[in-house]
Amino acid sequence: MPKVLIPTPLRQYADKHDTVDMGGTTVGEVLHTLTHQYQELRRQLYSDEGKLRSFVNVYLNDEDIRYLKKEATPVKDGDTISIVPSIAGGAPVVEAPPQPATLSKEEILRYSRHLIMPEVGMEGQLKLKQAKVLMIGAGGLGAPLGMYLAAAGVGRIGIVDFDVVDFTNLQRQVIHGTSDVGRKKLDSAADTMHEINPYVQIDKHETALSSENALDLFKDYDIIVDGTDNFPTRYLVNDACVLTGKPNVYGSIFRFEGQATVFAYQGGPCYRCLYPEPPPPGLVPSCAEGGVLGILPGTIGLIQATETVKLILQKGELLVGRLLLYDALAMRFRELKLRKNPECPVCGAHPTVTKLIDYQQFWFLKQAGFKKVKNMKGGILAWSDKVDPKVPKY
Ligand SMILES: [Zn+2]
Repeated sequence: MPKVLIPTPLRQYADKHDTVDMGGTTVGEVLHTLTHQYQELRRQLYSDEGKLRSFVNVYLNDEDIRYLKKEATPVKDGDTISIVPSIAGGAPVVEAPPQPATLSKEEILRYSRHLIMPEVGMEGQLKLKQAKVLMIGAGGLGAPLGMYLAAAGVGRIGIVDFDVVDFTNLQRQVIHGTSDVGRKKLDSAADTMHEINPYVQIDKHETALSSENALDLFKDYDIIVDGTDNFPTRYLVNDACVLTGKPNVYGSIFRFEGQATVFAYQGGPCYRCLYPEPPPPGLVPSCAEGGVLGILPGTIGLIQATETVKLILQKGELLVGRLLLYDALAMRFRELKLRKNPECPVCGAHPTVTKLIDYQQFWFLKQAGFKKVKNMKGGILAWSDKVDPKVPKY
């Protein structure tokens, strides 16, 4: 019997199966039987007119059926059918078609240096205007990201942050000024971004990203940009990106060195392909402990902003499957090949991580001797802040 591989974002509609055996003599027949068995999946794959949706690609073994006999392509025992939803411009969920965007006279003037470039032009600028980007954190990486994405005309920018501006932030978090000390980073960042470009919509999400809210937050955006500096959030962002099918534009900084790549994009590797599990707290120093060169997040944040804009425009060669390493002291860039790990616990063929984990509380409770650890509301961060300050944080 032919085998059908179900991609991660669609598994929720197929009883969480990653593979199903389905009878049929053509690709169309197999998909018909499949979507008859899983009605929810039908809505994802087919339009009301019964046509395969344009953002869903179907492969027979390693060939796109569009280049074979489409749905009439014959199948035999042992064949593998893969459903490959495109995630450019959104997850494979049923959405109302976006309103056609237009540019006002002022916007045409504002973006004139983009409009005269063939790589952007009117089409690209409208793509930017219709794009929805979620930034996790309004700190060192979030500062250049927020300012340049707003300036470039990214139409809707969400920010997740719950921190306030501290004097020690000003050395690198240039989106905040001296008079912002003590203000919410969300308010300070949004003010700066609106001052740069009043035409962009900014959504303020005043919360810590957690296993409870991540999937809900991510679903409204096309691209997630990770500007966090701690492992629990980094794994949450990665897993939530894989589970929702959104690209994860990743950057990290430490002292004089930075890294950047694009994870979980069109079958490319994810963070867990690289590092399946986070290190226990205390093993790897944070910026607060190890220090960071103030200029460094500017460079890395702008590489993330560049990749975000390229993803929106669908131009150029993305940092997918490539880890860019930057050494500011040596002023040297290096590149490592990243491969998708077929055994990856979240994006591999047989995932063991099928829902989000709050590592923050996970480690603490395990250390305290609890064996059956489940998520608790607000996470350990809330516990540490509000209940017991002795509880260690990352
Ligand atoms: Zn992976």
